[in-house]
Amino acid sequence: MSDYKEGTREGDYLVRGTAWGGKVRVFAARTTELVGELQRRHGTYPTASAALGRTATIGSMMGMMLKGEEKLTLQVKGDGPIGQIVVDANAKGEVRGYVDNPEAHVPSNSLGKLDVPGVVGTTGFVHVTKDLGLKEPYRGSVPIVSGELGEDFTYYFASSEQTPSAVGVGVLVDVDGKVLHAGGFILQLLPGLTDEEIGRLETALGGLPHVTALLDQGETPEEILRWVVGDELTVHETMDVKFVCQCSAEKVEQTLISMGETELRNLIEEEGSAEVVCHFCNEAYTFDKPHLERLLQEATAGKNG
Ligand code: ZN
Repeated sequence: MSDYKEGTREGDYLVRGTAWGGKVRVFAARTTELVGELQRRHGTYPTASAALGRTATIGSMMGMMLKGEEKLTLQVKGDGPIGQIVVDANAKGEVRGYVDNPEAHVPSNSLGKLDVPGVVGTTGFVHVTKDLGLKEPYRGSVPIVSGELGEDFTYYFASSEQTPSAVGVGVLVDVDGKVLHAGGFILQLLPGLTDEEIGRLETALGGLPHVTALLDQGETPEEILRWVVGDELTVHETMDVKFVCQCSAEKVEQTLISMGETELRNLIEEEGSAEVVCHFCNEAYTFDKPHLERLLQEATAGKNG
């Protein structure tokens, strides 16, 4: 606990807390800048921005469930035109992500809302991989339920982690494609709740305005949580959330070296240079011929040494 004063925090942040005597675990996020940066880096069209942004928002909150150097990867593989959605997040509020087809687009649905299931698809799988520092990573997979993503991860928590949960996420995109608001919440129901309390939560969730409507009214992540759990909310931690990619020129060099001598030699002879683009941040690393020749020397030395 710090001297944090609620409502003073600006920009993107995450909230972790509890309610109802510790029987409900709560997470909330405001991720407008993060999703805006994902949109700019990948040039996502509005519906793709919403799909990637919702997944990144869920990932950021799931990152807050981790500790220390732990990290996780979310993969949504549906049968829609966006292809695969991939998001990495960690316990430090660092998030990155991409989609196979950033220009995936479908017309808005009958309510005039972005048709997220239309780009994600309604069949396929949600995969969660957690690197908890153990020999083997944790892996959980569930079928896609609706392609809305909030519902899909609600199902993931209930089915794969045996934790009844409610996940609400939203991304509001302007007519020109700018991300206006993004955020969400996760509630997790712990043992000890009475049927009456569960009923109250369900009623509150049923009457909850859409997350983007709440963000648009200027509601903070804490206030969004109070819409559901009421005033008995205890905030344990708040944390910045931001786009961070772990790629570097050194890592890309290592990838090229690991291609091996023959492949590198072919690359030098046939292309004369190389450009490697990081999937996650769209950063392009270029290697001219002398640089590739140095890497070839390293590959050769590595093999002989
Ligand atoms: Zn990168």
